Amino acid sequence: MTPLDIEPDPVSVELDIEPEQMATMPEKAWTIPDVHLTDAPPFGATCQETSSLTTASRYVPCGRPATMTVFDPRAGRSYHMCTGCGTHSTRNRGFELRAEEVSTVVAPVMALAQILPADFELPALIRFVPDPRLKVALVTAVERAMEVDVTAEGGLALADAALADVRDRTKAITAHFEGPAELSHRLHKSITSTRSEWTMSGTDCVAIVGARIAREQRRREDIAAAARREQQRLADEQARAEAIARAKAVAAQGAPAQVVERMQAEAATVKAAPVPVVAPAPLKSTTVTKTWKARIKGTPADAEPNPDTSALTGEQKAEIYTLLAAIIAGHQPIALISVNWGTLNSRAKAEKGTLAIPGIEAYEDLGTRSKPGRRV
Ligand SMILES: [Zn+2]
Repeated sequence: MTPLDIEPDPVSVELDIEPEQMATMPEKAWTIPDVHLTDAPPFGATCQETSSLTTASRYVPCGRPATMTVFDPRAGRSYHMCTGCGTHSTRNRGFELRAEEVSTVVAPVMALAQILPADFELPALIRFVPDPRLKVALVTAVERAMEVDVTAEGGLALADAALADVRDRTKAITAHFEGPAELSHRLHKSITSTRSEWTMSGTDCVAIVGARIAREQRRREDIAAAARREQQRLADEQARAEAIARAKAVAAQGAPAQVVERMQAEAATVKAAPVPVVAPAPLKSTTVTKTWKARIKGTPADAEPNPDTSALTGEQKAEIYTLLAAIIAGHQPIALISVNWGTLNSRAKAEKGTLAIPGIEAYEDLGTRSKPGRRV
């Protein structure tokens, strides 16, 4: 949820929750704890803005960590708010900022140059003027080279000279852009590495706390599942006892032996209705995702799940051969594996016409390149 998704006005809030979810929410009086203050929120204070779960009868606070204290002139009182709610309220609702989390206040605004290396020539990059004459010159040379008839008398020499010209003019364009391209590359690197440095603690935290949430949810699910199995066992036991009691009652009333026997036989296997699964209360902003992925059979949990074929262990090779056998036998599609063209091309380059790999052959791919040091 981004700060802009925040519903600011409790009066217009719609009921957007399921009834069973509603039952798990605490019922509270329609009053927001009073905080006549102008100090920044203390550590642990939470946002008092009404969340989108709020209804006419229930006040549910936003609950995210409070970073600022804002004053509502109409109500004549202050509230602790998170950055999203507080920014929205001061920009759009006429609230006044009274105090902010210390870290937000002391961090000064920076100029772009401050995150760049000291010797970075930002002005040179901004002043760069692309020269379109270089582009026109290359187009002219390309037209000349394309028109050469290589089959004519002297055609090869003419094409050779025309290509040398095309290469020179291409190089001139590359050289012309080299400085600014290098500077932009450094600028991009500086900005993205500063970005990573600034976001790192957040990304790490999301990974660490996210893993804790996932582990804890799995633990609670296991406990709930065990409790449910036990409840089911007790319910089944009770259902059996009741069925046996019914058979006995019928026998006492003098029912035919056949009927009593059938009821007793049925009582032995009777099952209670399934105990309902209680879904855990969902978290507001975090969802634990479970994704199924493929790995070689028997891969330990901490090993690389998708290793290179050059890094396979003996056991892993055996499993891959099983897969290959299934493909050869026509039980699986060949698209499950891919050919390692990088290695095959290296072998072809080294072994040329002598390359001897079943099903594969080496071939000559024709092309041209400029000779070093040769200029017309
Ligand atoms: Zn909030």
